[in-house]
Amino acid sequence: MNNISRIQKNIEEIRRNIPDSVELLGAVKTRSVDEVQAAFDAGMRFFGHNYVQEAQAMISEVEFKASWHLIGHLQRNKAKFAVELFDMVESLDSLRLAKELEKRCAEAGKKMPVLIEVNSGREENKTGVMPEDALALADWLNGCEFLRLSGLMTMGPLTGDPELSRPYYKETKRLAEEIGSLHLENVRMDILSMGMSNSYQVAVEEGATLIRLGTVIFGTRYP
Ligand SMILES: *Cc1c(COP(=O)(O)O)cnc(C)c1O
Repeated sequence: MNNISRIQKNIEEIRRNIPDSVELLGAVKTRSVDEVQAAFDAGMRFFGHNYVQEAQAMISEVEFKASWHLIGHLQRNKAKFAVELFDMVESLDSLRLAKELEKRCAEAGKKMPVLIEVNSGREENKTGVMPEDALALADWLNGCEFLRLSGLMTMGPLTGDPELSRPYYKETKRLAEEIGSLHLENVRMDILSMGMSNSYQVAVEEGATLIRLGTVIFGTRYP
């Protein structure tokens, strides 16, 4: 089977194993335009990229329209380009970045849905806001005119065993409920972006509405 049919078969298989209400996002770092096109042809409508420049090249090359999400850490000096390129920023990980994005969205006259990336494992060298800081950031975002907080995203610690990811997904879901219960006027907790190739089943069990998949769709990443 060639690469393209394998990608399409992988997507169909994953689709069969998760509820229709869960959206798939193709995590496309290092992938080729042909691979991304194959995923689109198999019904994928959400794509995530980690890097602004690579995403820019890819989005200008593909011939389809889809929703592009930024899923990697964003440096503030690239916020302007991110605003031009992406339909959603899932990796909002600090108040300073939120301020910069709000400013750039205002300049562009563009409304931008964002997710707060939560450092659910409280790992020192990881991006994302600490769970206890998410409420304050949500409250600040509630006052934004251009940014629209739409949910939470988390990676969680890298574990071999998907069961070990469960507590971090539970914690993120709990946090989304807590923020939701504040009934902030401009805030929705509609999206829970969690789960990757090795852990998406557990993430779906814990309430993920969007799962970000690379390896199980496109194969092992080299390098
Ligand atoms: C690469 C990546 C994924 C997908 O990882 P896989 O293990 O290949 O499925 C998901 N989320 C983020 C933020 C990523 O960088």
